[in-house]
Amino acid sequence: MDSRWSIAIHGGAGTILRETLGEERRTAHEAALGAALDAAARLLADGGSALDGVAAAVVRLENDPLFNAGRGATFTFDGKIELDAAIMDGRERAAGAVAGVTTVRNPVLLARAVMERGPHVFLAGAGAERFAREQGFEAVDPAWFETAERRRQLDEFRERKTGWFDSSVKYGTVGAVARDGQGHVAAATSTGGLTGKRWGRIGDSPVIGAGTYADDRAGAVSATGAGEFFIRAGVAHTICDRVRFLGETIQQAADAAIAEVGELGGDGGVIVAGADGGTAFAFNTPGMYRGRADSAGMHEVKIFGDE
Ligand code: ASP
Repeated sequence: MDSRWSIAIHGGAGTILRETLGEERRTAHEAALGAALDAAARLLADGGSALDGVAAAVVRLENDPLFNAGRGATFTFDGKIELDAAIMDGRERAAGAVAGVTTVRNPVLLARAVMERGPHVFLAGAGAERFAREQGFEAVDPAWFETAERRRQLDEFRERKTGWFDSSVKYGTVGAVARDGQGHVAAATSTGGLTGKRWGRIGDSPVIGAGTYADDRAGAVSATGAGEFFIRAGVAHTICDRVRFLGETIQQAADAAIAEVGELGGDGGVIVAGADGGTAFAFNTPGMYRGRADSAGMHEVKIFGDE
């Protein structure tokens, strides 16, 4: 058995430029990504499963207010925080997802509970909250997720009425994909969605096959970007299908899927862990917060497109 493992993570894509990000925030993001990467890598190096690896990385990023997931998530138009998350196990393509969650500290863990402890794949709103309580998830005060910076972004959105998919947006969704030493892959994604979202809008992140997908026969994918385009292009599933049926490498498949998103007018990126142990990034934004590590000693954290 080929016991190579690999992990890749993202903390969102968007107009992330050296001149506007600044040294301090760059260092903070790199440290946060590095810590999440290391937590997952340690687990995988110790023989842990891809599923545990991606969950560990995403929980850390959800807890970090720098990213648009869990604490530090974006506000809806009405000033609320509604969280979406998904997780998928490539072994039997088991999946769990939640949308519009408002009191669960780590939505990715609730998604995992949906996958492992319930009969359904996708729960939303009040029902997802009820399932959370039944499963023993603590109800946190929604104020716990709020940060001043996200509030400022909402105020700016409402004042300037910037576009729904303004390309100056920095998507801050978090995600992880991994391949473990047993040859299994998994993917997880968590997000607050888009600043100013309305009408119970759900993005691509929790939609299985759009923002999240894992299949041992191909690989695992987690996306970030203007979700509506990722849903329309079925990005994560398309990448796995291209690998399976066209024999493309994960890099070729990821590039093709992002090109399709671009043709539709969308922007964003994906991370991919291949069934063969490789990893790939693809994005059509100036930057994507990202990192990867593997059993061969690779370890990198990057932000800008020219790195
Ligand atoms: N893809 C997410 C959404 O549309 C946003 C993001 O990547 O930050 O909900």
